[in-house]
Amino acid sequence: MPSTTEINDAIRRAKRDQRSGKDRSAGEREDESPLETPPPAPRRSAAADFQDLPKPLATKHADLLAALANSKDPQGEWSGEKYLQAHAPADVGRILIGALHPVLQGRVIKWLWREHMTGRGVVLLGKARLASGLVGHFSRADFILEFNWTEWQDLSERQRVALVDHELTHCSTDLEKGTSLIVPHDVEEFGSIVEKWGLWRPPLKRFAEIVTAAAQLALGLEETPARNGSEPVAAEE
Ligand SMILES: [Zn+2]
Repeated sequence: MPSTTEINDAIRRAKRDQRSGKDRSAGEREDESPLETPPPAPRRSAAADFQDLPKPLATKHADLLAALANSKDPQGEWSGEKYLQAHAPADVGRILIGALHPVLQGRVIKWLWREHMTGRGVVLLGKARLASGLVGHFSRADFILEFNWTEWQDLSERQRVALVDHELTHCSTDLEKGTSLIVPHDVEEFGSIVEKWGLWRPPLKRFAEIVTAAAQLALGLEETPARNGSEPVAAEE
């Protein structure tokens, strides 16, 4: 018998399919075709999805699931606002800051939903930015984190926590100056360049070691169904 979570997921997927149709007509999701898109893989239950969390989060299962279930976030359809307060990411973020990002304790972070987010031709899942200049003055914030509400509906619980962790990893502090700063990705590279030239820079070698270790670990686990791998989706800063 399908669980409540699975039923809710099915409803979310059906609603998203409707929205995707709208997106395609607006030219935002040109990569998707209703005939070529394979059916979504079956979702794991929340309990299975939350096995093997990173060690510092091992005791935080229940807290994270409660944070993800925050009912103040928009449900069903987007209301038409440009920005809305993002409650679930903020609640997850508070847990992650305590367990994984102590340098961000005391920093002011504004958490926002946007209905859609794209940049440089791809769908963005999230974006982290420094609240500097006038924005910082009026928001009294150090960082502003935005999340793509439409894409969030299709992420598993584990993927949602990973996304919040990703955006928080962009946020840091210069301990000497006491100033906030944005940290770039460890690696930004084309697959075709690695195919032709291999691990041609030291950061790529280090990244490949991490990916290899993670892939070996994943071999012993049930595969996490994610989105269609051909979609150009990025979690950008
Ligand atoms: Zn990023």
